[in-house]
Amino acid sequence: MNDLWVKHCGISHTGSFKDLGMTVLVSQVNRLRKMKRPVVGVGCASTGDTSAALSAYCASAGIPSIVFLPANKISIAQLVQPIANGAFVLSIDTDFDGCMKLIREVTAELPIYLANSLNSLRLEGQKTAAIEILQQFDWEVPHWVIVPGGNLGNIYAFYKGFKMCHELGLVDRMPRLVCAQAANANPLYLYYKSGWEEFKPVKANSTFASAIQIGDPVSIDRAVYALKNSNGIVEEATEEELMDAMAQADSTGMFICPHTGVALTALIKLRNSGVVGPMDRTVVVSTARGLKFTQSKVDYHSKAIPDMACTFANPPVQVKADFGAVMDVLKKYLGDKAPK
Ligand SMILES: *Cc1c(COP(=O)(O)O)cnc(C)c1O
Repeated sequence: MNDLWVKHCGISHTGSFKDLGMTVLVSQVNRLRKMKRPVVGVGCASTGDTSAALSAYCASAGIPSIVFLPANKISIAQLVQPIANGAFVLSIDTDFDGCMKLIREVTAELPIYLANSLNSLRLEGQKTAAIEILQQFDWEVPHWVIVPGGNLGNIYAFYKGFKMCHELGLVDRMPRLVCAQAANANPLYLYYKSGWEEFKPVKANSTFASAIQIGDPVSIDRAVYALKNSNGIVEEATEEELMDAMAQADSTGMFICPHTGVALTALIKLRNSGVVGPMDRTVVVSTARGLKFTQSKVDYHSKAIPDMACTFANPPVQVKADFGAVMDVLKKYLGDKAPK
């Protein structure tokens, strides 16, 4: 690829693109509370990153936050963020889709403001990533933008951002959008493959891309709209594919999250099939920073994942604290490059 770019949206306050939308939403809730509207707190269901962003901005504004998390399905780094920021954290013995259903029922009964991405304030903030991409290319539109998708708000936010710039005359066309899903949680992919025949929610299986382990995305209709109107494509990545892609990207100096590995896999597949051309300017959206997902990398590099070759693993070499032993392994590593 000659013109490949990775847009890092996870190098931000809480380490994922969720910050972009949550600052808008919490600012609005802050305003409502100052107008004495009856909002006792803000709640969300989360696969980790939404709760981290919500709790940080709420804590700063002095607003109670209440987060519903699926027990044992998010990383420690993600879980500790709302805990440390003083959110009321419910760890619920279900998956994300179960948490989402519960929070919708609860917020229908109590004056808790719902902060999931069905709330368009989130998407308004997330649009800025699309605008930034265009600005960084001096308003030249890339051919492809590849976004990993779970609850599917973000793919629609990108569409809206590009569309807005097009309508304002800042750019002359739209990029083609690709939504990339984990094969273990791929309801959009299956819908796309059926020729948009029939949407069926799935039971999401466990995936290293845990922030997109969602079987019944709330923004399914918006995502389909975005894809249909951008000549879009949906791809999927198996666990081995996404982990290999992540490891290969990391070996170039990045330190990406597994979701970005899903998006990179989509790129590799579309490039191999010739859909994405060698000269096409392509932007892969990186949604969180890798430091939130270190356990997946530890497992991979120690080859501790069942049924996975971990082809690009780079495990540390155990060596005695002895000059001769250290020289031996170094000479073996350097091979011909070591002076004789
Ligand atoms: C939330 C999230 C996604 C998916 O975004 P959706 O809007 O739910 O499709 C992807 N990657 C990471 C790291 C996320 O936190």
